[in-house]
Amino acid sequence: MAERSRIIGIDLGTTNTVVAHVRNRIPKVVPSERGNLVIPSMVALASSGDLLVGGPARDQAVTNPRNTVSGAKRLIGRPFESLAVQELKSALPYEIVPGPDGAAAVKLGERVLTLPEVSSHVLAHAKKVSELSLGGLVTEAVITVPAWYNDNQRSAVKEAGRLAGLEVKRILNEPTAAALAYGFNRKLRKKVLVYDLGGGTFDVSVLQLDNNVFEVLATGGDTFLGGVDFDRRVAEHVVRVFEQLEGMGLSTSPVARQRIQFAAESAKMDLSVIPNVMLELPFITERRGKPVDLRVPLTRDQLNALTQDLVDRTFAIVDGVLAQKGIRRQEIDEVLLVGGQSRMPLVQQAITAHFGKPPRKGVHPDECVALGAALFADSLGALDAVTLLDALFMPIGYAQPSGAFKAVLERNLPIPGARSFRLPPPRESDPAEISLELFQGDAQRAGDNEFLGRLVLPASAAGQKVELRVDAEGLLTVTVGEGANARAHQLSTRDTPEAVRRTLADRDARKAGEPRVAPAPEPGLLSSLKKMFGRG
Ligand code: ADP
Ligand code: MG
Repeated sequence: MAERSRIIGIDLGTTNTVVAHVRNRIPKVVPSERGNLVIPSMVALASSGDLLVGGPARDQAVTNPRNTVSGAKRLIGRPFESLAVQELKSALPYEIVPGPDGAAAVKLGERVLTLPEVSSHVLAHAKKVSELSLGGLVTEAVITVPAWYNDNQRSAVKEAGRLAGLEVKRILNEPTAAALAYGFNRKLRKKVLVYDLGGGTFDVSVLQLDNNVFEVLATGGDTFLGGVDFDRRVAEHVVRVFEQLEGMGLSTSPVARQRIQFAAESAKMDLSVIPNVMLELPFITERRGKPVDLRVPLTRDQLNALTQDLVDRTFAIVDGVLAQKGIRRQEIDEVLLVGGQSRMPLVQQAITAHFGKPPRKGVHPDECVALGAALFADSLGALDAVTLLDALFMPIGYAQPSGAFKAVLERNLPIPGARSFRLPPPRESDPAEISLELFQGDAQRAGDNEFLGRLVLPASAAGQKVELRVDAEGLLTVTVGEGANARAHQLSTRDTPEAVRRTLADRDARKAGEPRVAPAPEPGLLSSLKKMFGRG
């Protein structure tokens, strides 16, 4: 008898990955090979030359920081030269290099891995773990991503799934998955706020639940606020106290730093349950050839004082998201906590104070995204399937000749959705091809937004209609022409924004003799459209 393949839901997190599966209508987390409910989202090249994934990769992170990749989720789908990657480069212990397509890639020993490859190892591990646990083939998955992921990032996650041998049936937004875990088939009519404080990012979304219709009303967050910031505060404190106690500086070797960071994280997590802990790190350094141990006590009150401002920042963001749609705090019927860091008692107290009611109990912060993904996966094709109504998180548009960003798809456009515009009519001096650079973001200058890709069209496309469509997964398609002549076009992302800038500078230099359009503050990011739109 042919083996029945199974479908899983995967929460591919910055820090941890969680896999879930529905059996007899009940979603359950699939335990890892170590019996844990989470798989560390880590990939490492061991000194033996083996590629390690998950727990084993985390185990050796202390002694092998340069060849251990964590936080791939922050890099995937981003051009190497983008601002975010350049900022992360100095903060991450492993090497980030430009990949073959201009995207950020990582260097492990002599090997360069693309970010989809890195994530595919984690996904392949998730697939293997679930095949062992469920006893059969697993070839399909629903994978969750942050609501703010752009087209490049979503496509890169799909690619990672493909490389892992999984057919990705759907990319689902994390807050929507969390809301599904809470409200699926419960016939609720409620406004819920999903407060997701994870390892590296904070995300907040407001959803309207109406039976099995899940509508995202507003969403926002901070991509540089999460558990690691709490760990850092603890680590800094511990080093300060150690230096006071011992009257000596603490070596900043990567190994010592990594040990202190892990200890800080463990202490922080323990303080969610018990009121005080002792951080103990034997032989953290040496004095006159003798080992010196680190022993620093920490109380929950101290932890709260060290991190209160981080918690306060999340509420400034919450209020901003509510304000987007003029939603009052009292209108929120339930607050759902997601993300490991939301288990901190201070966070729960702050929620209660802010909303006048405690967060929802019974939705597990570590598991609910994966459970929601599994429920959604299981409902695909079913008659009582859920309806997801989402909105575009950031505008999508193109660069104008002046360098200004022209939005075509506006923020909060219901998706799936589309908008179109017309290329200017042909002119005699038109170049051989038209190229259009697409961006996503809300900055006025195109170059300050995320570069999505470039559309290269024959000159004959002048005057034609261009349609930008975002599908239910948040993926962008571009169609040029109308009726029978309409054709879908692939965006080329081979050109990084820098490369685009350079070719344009070249082109400008060649055309130097011709009358120029109004002086652009920056030569780059423009295309021959400069000549088409810009009638200076
Ligand atoms: P992500 O979705 O970004 O991968 P997770 O939701 O798995 O992140 O959250 C990971 C973060 O949660 C880490 O910073 C971890 O230290 C923190 N965390 C986990 N458990 C607890 C706890 N009991 N108390 C406080 N923080 C915790
Ligand atoms: Mg998460």
